[in-house]
Amino acid sequence: MANDGAREVLAIRFGTRTTTRAESFLNYHLYNEPDAKIEIDYFFWVIRDASGTTLIDTGFAPAAGDRRRRAWWTTPAQALPTLGIDPATVSTIVVTHAHWDHTGNLHQFPHAKIVISAAEYDFWTSPIAGRTQFAAHAEPDEIGYLRAANQEDRLTLIKGQHTLASGIELIEVGGHTPGQLIVSVITATGTVVLASDALHFYEEVERDRPFAIVADLPGMYRAYDVLTGLASQPDTWLVAGHDPLVRTRFGPRQAVSDVTDLGAPNTL
Ligand SMILES: [Zn+2]
Repeated sequence: MANDGAREVLAIRFGTRTTTRAESFLNYHLYNEPDAKIEIDYFFWVIRDASGTTLIDTGFAPAAGDRRRRAWWTTPAQALPTLGIDPATVSTIVVTHAHWDHTGNLHQFPHAKIVISAAEYDFWTSPIAGRTQFAAHAEPDEIGYLRAANQEDRLTLIKGQHTLASGIELIEVGGHTPGQLIVSVITATGTVVLASDALHFYEEVERDRPFAIVADLPGMYRAYDVLTGLASQPDTWLVAGHDPLVRTRFGPRQAVSDVTDLGAPNTL
């Protein structure tokens, strides 16, 4: 199971929804194309190596998913044992941003250290986050959980770029949310860039089409440039945060459905 100390990066698909292109891309009418249905997938990510297990986000809570009419079938605490991981061994959780579909289930890991950008934490604990266009994308109880974790000294608030461990870099890009993070992970086969929601769909960078939910549009475009720059490096693979294409651009992990091995790119 330990892979002789090799580092493994996995995407776990835990939910899905059918939406439309017009709801997904900002000001879709600008492109003069007919609307169409598209699938949006929900993931959380696991980095596992000899030093332990790090979770990147924790998906959405079942009750929040039901209320918002998303299909879902697992949570991190249910999914990790199927990968041979005891949830109690998760020492660190990176919260890439504080939207509801990334902060659910944090309570499943009461002993984990939580890493989030200071800009993200400060924003969501400020009054402006209560305005409808922002509040629609967060769960108050989960922001409350982050506040409590901060009071318990379980939060690490980072700025700019932060080395989480050797070969694991957190990079603050903003745009989608005020302190959106991406995660760059060096593995034996190359570098995996977990874009989370700095890139929902590959089409955003491949056709330069911003996502519909955005705190800072120039920041979102700059984040696309950061991601494109990283992806142009040798043996470096970009992992979009909500794109069903993740499962075809990378190989499945054997025998476990809905788990994609991000160290096994099918393209490039
Ligand atoms: Zn999301």
